[in-house]
Amino acid sequence: MSTELLSRPVPSTTVFVPELVYFEPDSLNYPKGQQIYKWAQQEGFEIHMTTSHNQIRDLPGETELDKYRIAKRTLVVGIRKTLKFETSKPSAEYAIPIATGCMGHCHYCYLQTTMGAKPYIRVYVNIDDILGAAQRYIAEREPEITRFEAACTSDPVGLEHISGSLKQLIEFMGEQEHGRLRFVTKYHHVEPLLDAKHNKHTRFRFSVNADYVIKNFEPGTSRFHERIEAAGKVAKAGYPLGFIIAPIIWHEGWEDGYATLLEKLHNALPPEATQDLTFEMIQHRFTKTAKNIIEKRYPKTKLEMDEEKRKYKWGKYGKGKYVYKDDQATALREFITERIFEKFPQAKIEYFT
Ligand code: SF4
Repeated sequence: MSTELLSRPVPSTTVFVPELVYFEPDSLNYPKGQQIYKWAQQEGFEIHMTTSHNQIRDLPGETELDKYRIAKRTLVVGIRKTLKFETSKPSAEYAIPIATGCMGHCHYCYLQTTMGAKPYIRVYVNIDDILGAAQRYIAEREPEITRFEAACTSDPVGLEHISGSLKQLIEFMGEQEHGRLRFVTKYHHVEPLLDAKHNKHTRFRFSVNADYVIKNFEPGTSRFHERIEAAGKVAKAGYPLGFIIAPIIWHEGWEDGYATLLEKLHNALPPEATQDLTFEMIQHRFTKTAKNIIEKRYPKTKLEMDEEKRKYKWGKYGKGKYVYKDDQATALREFITERIFEKFPQAKIEYFT
């Protein structure tokens, strides 16, 4: 390789730029809707109006796959009508919905199934209604602390340059004695959030993984070094920090892969980052429906989804998932737990699931 190539900086993952933008007309009655409309005009995007996101049927594209790719670059600006929050165990009491959908192309992502045939990205402009609902959920549980997870249906950090909603949410939670926020991201675009008045009520988590997983299964997301650099900035801004190692994937050389991950985290993080640090671990799982969808959307994927090699774990409403067999799950959990405590003795491991 030439020295010129070697000395070139690694290109940075750019922020999300939609190809198509739709507005539900009511969204323009809200300041956030108007602000996004102005932004879309300034950027020169093709703007469409739609009575409801359900009416968006004819996205361009010859094949289903083309349509899927375009949908991932389509932004729909609308109103969140359901203000009943889903539960979000084990990481929080409730999922708080500020956006749905994601521009990333992680092969294993569960949004493949939950968002069905409409994987476009929706941002909600009635943020005051959403915060009002959160306030009621907090009041119901007082004096207990209520935790909200903002990344159950999206990656909100990757959309912050468009909506600004995450900062509002962080600052709202900063003022709540009994409310806490958490979210996870694979994006490094944290600048707009660094000066938010978080009051340490928000745990900012980054999703990290062994090189093999990031390289093979996470196209369209920020690279590992970008996420870690961003984690350092977030820690310096005083946020409690966390890492989610997910999905943990059994692959050839996994021990080296996960040991190196912890080693790299340890070497890259500033001392502030280790003061109040949490880890969450989630092993890879899939359903039969997910497997069918993933094989269609990412036909060349190396993601192992062989039911014979897995254990079936029954879930709610009789719907189960395939997880690793007990001996593999235990090996993964024990090995990674040991590496975490070796490198970060003060860190708290919240769960392995
Ligand atoms: S970044 Fe997260 S939400 Fe987006 S595709 Fe990847 S796993 Fe799914």
